[in-house]
Amino acid sequence: MKLANKVVFMAGAGSSAPGWSIGKATCVTLARQGASIVAVDKHLQAAEESAEEIRKTGGIALALQADVADQHSIEQAVARAISEFGGIDVYIANAGIGKIGGIVETETADMDLIYQVNVQSLLIASKLIIPSMLQRGGGAIVTISSVAGIRYLGYPHLAYSVTKAALIQFTRMIAQEYAGRGIRANTVVPGLIDTPRVQKNVSAAFSSDNNPDEVRSKRNQQVPMQRMGTAWEVANAIAFLASDDASYITGTELVVDGGLTGK
Ligand code: NAD
Repeated sequence: MKLANKVVFMAGAGSSAPGWSIGKATCVTLARQGASIVAVDKHLQAAEESAEEIRKTGGIALALQADVADQHSIEQAVARAISEFGGIDVYIANAGIGKIGGIVETETADMDLIYQVNVQSLLIASKLIIPSMLQRGGGAIVTISSVAGIRYLGYPHLAYSVTKAALIQFTRMIAQEYAGRGIRANTVVPGLIDTPRVQKNVSAAFSSDNNPDEVRSKRNQQVPMQRMGTAWEVANAIAFLASDDASYITGTELVVDGGLTGK
């Protein structure tokens, strides 16, 4: 039980479509390691579904509705987590959105919104959560970027790529600022992961007629391991960085991509 007695604030804990998202799989994986999970999502039902999965296996979970880009809403969620569990040890920044398209398709309003959710949210939550971590003698922050933040994936995904790149550097900055005070901060960089959101949204970028078999085959061919990853494989990387197994690891990125970025 590598996360026994730890309280995890999991932002983006749900799934945007039925099935196992990275957030939902991470909630269950961390709970199995003994953590109590505050499952926070913009959609209460999505947070509740993750909390329910945790409770099914005897874990402890509290589902809360909050928008990571909204200061007031995150203030309330963090306050509730602290009053319910006494503090926060681990913060996972998993909520992320994007819009497929390049310069022509991306409006400045799209960039603003995607920046708010993918990057500004980290500033909002870190300001609120880090004081609790310091009070408890330390903590771990894990942010979820994307290989799109470090390389071009064959189709334009401008706002997503730019903000996911920023998230990596933001996390390194937190790591430097708090390295001497017991707080570690690292990023998991997933490659092509077979989550319900990807099945729904990215299909169009790979197949004109949206044929699911063609989409899956094209995505698999891109990856040296010749398959997409699962949400559970990303969750395991997040759990490692959140735990004391990673006690000397801070300010770095763990790429979980079946060899994609090494090509
Ligand atoms: P998902 O959309 O299924 O899950 C994200 C969850 O975050 C959803 O429940 C959604 O409601 C929530 N969310 C979105 N905006 C929010 C907001 N403003 N406030 C609170 N909650 C919000 O996505 P997923 O595919 O499981 O991806 C999870 C994370 O991993 C994202 O950050 C994504 O960018 C990243 N990622 C995914 C892949 C992939 O292939 N699936 C690859 C690389 C990176």
